Amino acid sequence: MSSVKGQLPVAWKNTERFNGRLPLKLDREQHGLAKKFRKPRNADPFQSLATLYDYLDRFMSYAVGLMACAKGCSYCCHSEIGLSQIEADYITARTGIPAKRMRQDPTRVGAAPWVDPNRPCPFLNLGACAIYEFRPMLCRTHVNFDATNALCRFDSEAESILLLDRESSLPGAMKAYGELAASYGGGIGDIRDFFCTIYAP
Ligand code: SF4
Repeated sequence: MSSVKGQLPVAWKNTERFNGRLPLKLDREQHGLAKKFRKPRNADPFQSLATLYDYLDRFMSYAVGLMACAKGCSYCCHSEIGLSQIEADYITARTGIPAKRMRQDPTRVGAAPWVDPNRPCPFLNLGACAIYEFRPMLCRTHVNFDATNALCRFDSEAESILLLDRESSLPGAMKAYGELAASYGGGIGDIRDFFCTIYAP
C-alpha cells in the first residue's frame, strides 16, 4: 500500500481524513447489524435491507468533500455492477420493474470487460441514476477518494484507483449483507442481467 500512498497522495490523505472523521459509535453500530437482522421481529428482508442501506448512507456521508464523486459523473455506472437477488427484488418491490431470478452461480460477474462505455447500467438515465433511492450496496459504497475523476475516465490508463475498501472499512455491514443475501436466496449477477428486459445498449 505504500506505493499507492506515493502514487495517489491526495486520495491517500482523503482516506485518512475519512477514517478520522468516522464517529466511533457509528463504526461500532455496524457490528450489531447482523445480529439485529436475525431477530424474529426483523423478519422482513426488505426492511432489513433498507436499514442496512440507511446505515451505509450515514457511513458514507462522512466522505462528503473528500471524494471525486459528484452528481453528473457516471463512469462507474458503466462498470460491472454486481448485486444479489435480494437487492434486485428490492428494486422490483419499490419500482415495479421486474428482475430475473438468478441462478446460484453468477452468470456474468467477472465475465465481461470491467468497464464498457457502450453498456451502461440500465438505470442510468441522462447521466443520473433513475433508482437512486433504491440503488444497490455496491453503488452506495463506491467512492473515489481522489481530487478529480480523471482516473475513472474511459481513457484512463490508471492501474489503480483508491476506492473504499469495503472489507476493512465495513466488515460488520458486509457480514450483515452476506447473511441477508444468503438467507433470502437466489444468485448474484450483474445488474444488466437482472434487469435485461429493460437493457437497451
Ligand atoms: S443503479 Fe444507479 S448508481 Fe448504480 S450503476 Fe445503475 S445508474 Fe449507476
